[in-house]
Amino acid sequence: MKDLKELKKIEQFSDQCMKCGFCSFFCPVYQEEKMETSVARGKNYLVKQILAGKQEFTHEMADIIGKCLLCKRCAANCPAKTQIDRVVVAARAQLVKEKGLGAIKEFAFRKVMANRKAFGKYARLMQKFQWMMPTTEGKIKHLPDFVKGLGKRNFPSLAKTFLRDQIKPVYKPQNGEKPKMRVGFFMGCATDFVYPELGLKLIDFLTRHGVEVVVPEDQNCCGAAIYFSGDLETGRMLADLNIKAFKDLNVDYIVTACGTCSSTLKDYQKYLPDTEEQKERYTEFEKKIKDSTEFVIDILKIPPEDFKLRKEFEGKTVTWHDPCHLVRYQNIKDQPRAILKALKGIKYVEMPNADMCCGMGGSFSVYHYDLTKKIAGKKMDGIKATGADIVVTACPGCMINLIDNVLLNKMPQKVHHFLELVE
Ligand code: SF4
Ligand code: SF4
Repeated sequence: MKDLKELKKIEQFSDQCMKCGFCSFFCPVYQEEKMETSVARGKNYLVKQILAGKQEFTHEMADIIGKCLLCKRCAANCPAKTQIDRVVVAARAQLVKEKGLGAIKEFAFRKVMANRKAFGKYARLMQKFQWMMPTTEGKIKHLPDFVKGLGKRNFPSLAKTFLRDQIKPVYKPQNGEKPKMRVGFFMGCATDFVYPELGLKLIDFLTRHGVEVVVPEDQNCCGAAIYFSGDLETGRMLADLNIKAFKDLNVDYIVTACGTCSSTLKDYQKYLPDTEEQKERYTEFEKKIKDSTEFVIDILKIPPEDFKLRKEFEGKTVTWHDPCHLVRYQNIKDQPRAILKALKGIKYVEMPNADMCCGMGGSFSVYHYDLTKKIAGKKMDGIKATGADIVVTACPGCMINLIDNVLLNKMPQKVHHFLELVE
């Protein structure tokens, strides 16, 4: 009898599906492909077939399970509260167990991303050769045709100096007084390698507000791309390394400027535990994690009207894009809107379907770039409808995809993290 351990863990969630098909109205992949296998109902059905021993993990099955953004739009609107994200992650984990990761992911996840030093070394190497890739603007590079084997998507430019090379281990409050609290700063890969200025802005913001910030050198990638691809083993290793990195720092909270990182760190307890001990440890860690958007409003309790707009944005019309990892994974939607609506000097316009996925989905966009562009096309329609000059969000992953698609659609909008908008 086959060992279906990973699928057995989530059997209860796929059993909940009552086949109403409501999810098809909300699934961005189904909206483009109109295939039953794209949507939560179809995926649930196939997983149940595997559990019943009536279906094998074929290449076609792997493709179906891979074609999900994990945006959770279906789950958020499912009357039976089916948790398709858990079903898909478990199915991917089962697939990895049976067929392995494949050479490219094996190298990228286990040899590069799982090791902070190696990741930095390879990123520096890429940084040296990135001049060979044609650049548009907004930090997006077009991959030349001869490396299309890596996938077709455009990639962001790497920063001249990575955040890890600019940062100090400890930052004291700027007013010179006793800190009102001590927080750990979690960098995340996109902030480290692409948007180091976001990390520096967050530290500056926190220390101006009387917070002491510590930055442990041995923190790693959060593991999102890795464990969402089904490599739970490497995911657990990264979770353990990150927990260890912050363990003895005596911090009240761990804050990050990346919506995907904050959700991933909080959700170690949901997707990764193999034992009760791990579950307890990951749950304990979750309690300390805060996204920058919730930290400034809910913990620091800065009144939204106290935020000051940076001069260069005066007179602009602004709209907000909800990253899936903020709005559905962490239920963070009011805090950033409160800041944007209260900022004097800009006009805030709500975007139609602001919570719709931008189409990035981590490695989804590498393997299904054409689909990513179609899904992002709907997001672009929403942006155009607002007449906004600036799209604001709080996830560097979304920023990369939004900038790419704004440029592909020859639109004039600029994309910024909310931290860039405020003084
Ligand atoms: S909305 Fe929920 S219950 Fe209905 S078909 Fe989709 S997953 Fe099943
Ligand atoms: S998580 Fe998103 S992409 Fe995946 S099935 Fe649900 S709605 Fe579709």
